Amino acid sequence: MLPKGANLQKIRDGKKTYAITPHLPGGFIKPDLMRKYADVAEKYHGVLKLTSAQRIMITGLKAEEIENIWQDLGMQPAMGFANCVRSVKICPGSVFCKRGKRDSIKLGMELDKLYHKKEMPSRIKLGVAGCPNSCAEVHVKDVGLMATDEGWDVYVGGTAGSHPRLADKLVTSLSEEDALRIVGIILRYYEKNADIERIGQFIDRIGFKKFQADVLAEFYGEVSQTSQPEIPQTAMGEKLIPVPGGLTEGTLVIGDKITADSVVSDVIRVYPQTVPVLRSFGMGCLGCPSSTGEPLSQAAQIHGLNINELVDSLNQVI
Ligand code: SF4
Repeated sequence: MLPKGANLQKIRDGKKTYAITPHLPGGFIKPDLMRKYADVAEKYHGVLKLTSAQRIMITGLKAEEIENIWQDLGMQPAMGFANCVRSVKICPGSVFCKRGKRDSIKLGMELDKLYHKKEMPSRIKLGVAGCPNSCAEVHVKDVGLMATDEGWDVYVGGTAGSHPRLADKLVTSLSEEDALRIVGIILRYYEKNADIERIGQFIDRIGFKKFQADVLAEFYGEVSQTSQPEIPQTAMGEKLIPVPGGLTEGTLVIGDKITADSVVSDVIRVYPQTVPVLRSFGMGCLGCPSSTGEPLSQAAQIHGLNINELVDSLNQVI
């Protein structure tokens, strides 16, 4: 079991170290809280590290100290479930930046309040930028909002990482209220129709035109003229979970035993019932193309797990 709200960071000479990352909406922090971070890091011999999600991680920690560290900080972990709305990246916008065209802080904080930690089919990152310079990297966010002179432009399906994808422009020039409303529609549509896949993967599977038509139909209060997303079927008539990131050719087939060499994405595609087992072992990154392209043995090593226990538990549910 992982200590509360902690990530395994390294295993060196058999010793594990952990990191914690408290939630820090928009990356704003008051001086007294900054001091508390410093005091806690000093007390527990941790190292402070700024993250790409505008947070401050404390790393190099021991498992047995994690509970006390949370108590000392008096903060909540940024991570909820592995597959949830992970973060809302917010640029300084018109409040603090001379180039800002609109208030990205107000809109971003509202999105954080509404959706942070909301469970989703895969990990979701949001971004809100106050002008087309896009300092909140809206083009590589699952949902991005970017201010222009005319209003808010909405982007969907972006991601960075080992399989980067630039977002598609969904709609332009919305008011703040409409921008908030369409994010809700996008997330509901994705939640209802997607499997374990990022929004970009989902869009690539069903086609951007269909995604756009369905989302805008609800947004404008119309009935979509397009058909429901086509979910591929297996020969046995079961719903397939698409291969995250399309990383494997699918060497595992129904009836095969799972082994240490089985690729994670194959395992969850052929045996979706293994997903809760993988999660119970702390392998929450099931929507991540790079991690699901690994063999189980490698994933177990990274997570500090006993590969035989993992394989046995997986085979018990298939
Ligand atoms: S995106 Fe525009 S408004 Fe936001 S910080 Fe960058 S330059 Fe400033």
